[in-house]
Parts: sequence; C-alpha cells; structure tokens
Amino acid sequence: MTTNDQLFERARKVIPGGVNSPVRAFRAVGGTPRFIARAQGPYMWDAEGKRFIDYIGSWGPMILGHGHPAVLSAVQQAATEGFSFGAPTEREIELAEEILSLVPSCEQIRLVSSGTEAAMTAIRLARGATGRSKFIKFEGCYHGHADPLLVKAGSGLATFGNPTSAGVPPEVVQHTLVLEYNNLEQLEEAFRLHGPELACVMIEPIAGNMNFVRAQVPFVKRIRELCDQHGALFVFDEVMTGFRVALGSAQSLYAAAIPGFAPDISVFGKVIGGGMPLAAFAGSRKVMEHLAPLGTVYQAGTLSGNPVATACGLATLREIRKPGFFDDLSRKTRTLVDGLKGAADAAGVPFSVDSQGGMFGFFFMPELPQNYTTVMTTDQPRFNRFFHGLLDRGVYLAPALYEAGFVSAAHTDADIAETVAVAADVLRSL
Ligand code: PLP
Repeated sequence: MTTNDQLFERARKVIPGGVNSPVRAFRAVGGTPRFIARAQGPYMWDAEGKRFIDYIGSWGPMILGHGHPAVLSAVQQAATEGFSFGAPTEREIELAEEILSLVPSCEQIRLVSSGTEAAMTAIRLARGATGRSKFIKFEGCYHGHADPLLVKAGSGLATFGNPTSAGVPPEVVQHTLVLEYNNLEQLEEAFRLHGPELACVMIEPIAGNMNFVRAQVPFVKRIRELCDQHGALFVFDEVMTGFRVALGSAQSLYAAAIPGFAPDISVFGKVIGGGMPLAAFAGSRKVMEHLAPLGTVYQAGTLSGNPVATACGLATLREIRKPGFFDDLSRKTRTLVDGLKGAADAAGVPFSVDSQGGMFGFFFMPELPQNYTTVMTTDQPRFNRFFHGLLDRGVYLAPALYEAGFVSAAHTDADIAETVAVAADVLRSL
C-alpha cells in the first residue's frame, strides 16, 4: 500500500507544495494531506483505505453526496456522446433555463468553467456596463484569484488595495476598495467619497471564506440603496451559497427580508456543476446584453458550457428541486451544528455555530463573529487539535478555521450522530 506520506513526498517533487490548490496542503493545520482514492455518498476513502465522513464535499459542489446514481448516469451518457464540441448544445439552454427558473433576479446567464472566471467577468461586465472603474469588495470575502480581486483588506476606510499575492501589480488593484464586512459607517463613507466612480459592490452574502459569517440584512439593504442612488451595480457572489443555502440561493433569503430586493449580477459555481468544472454569471437582460457578441464586454471560453459538465449540473439541479429536499438538508445540518454546540457546552469549550441549508460554520468563541478581524481571533491551535482529532477518528472537516463546512443529502442521521459523538470525545480532550 502506498501511504499518504509517500504520495505527498512524490507529489512535492512535481507539483509546487504537492497540491493543485493551496489549502489542500494542510499548511494551516499541519500534517500530511490525505490523498483521496475514491468517494461514495457522504464518504471518502484515502490512499491507505481509511474512510472519512466528508464535510467538505469538494468545497461545496457535492450537495447530493458522491456518485449520486442519477448524476452518474447523466454524466456517463453525456460522455459517450462527446466530451467537448466548442459549439452550442441544447443542454446549455436547458441548464440556463433551469437556473434562471430558480433565481428570479436573473434573466440571462453565461456559463464558464470556474468561479474565478465567473467573478472576474462579473467585475468586467459591471465596469463595462457602467463605464466606471472602481469597485468595492469586503475583507474576508474571496471571489477567486483574478488579479483585481486579490486584494489585501485595507485597515481603514478608503484604503485602496494592496495586492495579497506577489505578481499582482499595484496599478491593477488601484481601483479595488476594500471595506470591513457588515460595517455600515465604512460603507456610507466609501459611497460619499467615491459614489459616482463606483462600478459595483461585490459581496459574498454569507461569507464562506471566513468560515460562516452572514451579511446582516440592514447592511445588504443599505448597499442596495446606495448602489441605486449612485448608479452602481450590486453583485452577489453566490459561488458558494448558490443552490446550497436555499433552492433560490442566498438572494432568496434577503428578498424575503427586504421587499423587492434583487442583486444586479449573480455569480454561481460549485453546486451548478455538481462536481464538474462549471460556473456562471447572470443578471438582467439589460446588463447581460453588454456581453460579446451583442455588446462590447469581451468574454469567451474553449470549454464554456461543456457538454459533460452541463449534464452533471443539470442532473444535480433536478435532484435538489424535488419537494422537501432543502427541508431535509437543513434539518440534517441543524442537527449537526446543534449537536456540536451541545458537545462543546458539555465540555465547557466556548463555541458558537450557524448554518443555512447545507452550509455551516463553527467558531471557538462564545459569540458569532461579524467580520474577518474577529474570525481571525479564533484560537487557532485549539481548532487545529479539534481538526486532527476528528480526522484521526474518520471525520473530515475543512483543514482551515476560515472555511465553511458542507452537509450533503447523502449524510444519514447515523453519520451525523457518529460525527457528534466523535466531536464530543475530542472536545473533552481539548
Ligand atoms: N467565489 C466564492 C464565493 C468562492 O467561494 C470561490 C471558491 O471557493 C470562488 C469565487 C472561486 O471559485 P473557483 O475556485 O471555482 O475558481
């Protein structure tokens, strides 16, 4: 048997850091990443044959669990018909119609291959549609790794970005304004100073890249009002929350709380591809018609709308829209987080939890944080001991305290009970 250690050593010789996406390297938590050999339902098995209950779900896409029979058969059928044509297909229309039917704010959609590509193009579209350059993003929100979005959070108001990554020239991020999440004063001030120059505000409505932090309803409402007053577009990055927190995505929750609420552009990924490389951005016809070939905003992709990926996404969406799907998923996720909270309370460990649909977060702190600075005050060594304690006992959480967790429809009540029992054990030993 080849061990995870052996594979990691071999991987590091040919792949920088041994991984194709940094968080997989376990740097934040220490130790050797598990090399996954296969997955089925809510479980994954590593190269050493060890089974894990999977709460990462490929970082969100696997809402039905792994290898769902209807999805598998759709993918197999599509693959026999051809991998890629570089020409339009009927299935792209079907997927577009399916997504648009679930998200009333969107009249047209363009399919791409990754969330990064979708978010990057959403910014370009907002800039092209408004003729403006500046935009606002929030500290702790990740929108993929396109240059203008890779910006370190400014410590104060109106601090234009410093690149977070080497290789991003300062001029490329000079139009990116970074504000604190849920901070109304900074928001007001930013619009007062820069309102007429702003192309858009981009937000993760439930920020899953700083664990799980909700944008408060008054905050979202005020962004909408300020965008309307100043002619800026409001972009909801629902790559993670889309079709994950509710059938209508996070925007349906805000629309329920704010009469008439709708974002101008929505960005999707993860669930809409069901585990295949597929993402999208969508909006009103008026905004989307700025895109080539109709308009002057350029965007293209060799594999965009790929026939196998669209088959996978379509089959996934058809499952999640079945009656009761989200009720059941939400119930399971709540059982999990309530169980974790109960176990932490019993062990006397300060702990807070939140969840929506099939997405959850937990913090080793008594109150739920509202922004990135507070999230990062989490007791990191304690989180790491918790993570490894669970991993050793066959429960696979995200290997970093600033990542959200995901429950799938394939998780059984027994899986969740086992997870809570394991967590209780580990929490007692922390
Ligand atoms: N936007 C959000 C909210 C995300 O969570 C992610 C990825 O995790 C992205 C964009 C980038 O998506 P991708 O990794 O598919 O490029």
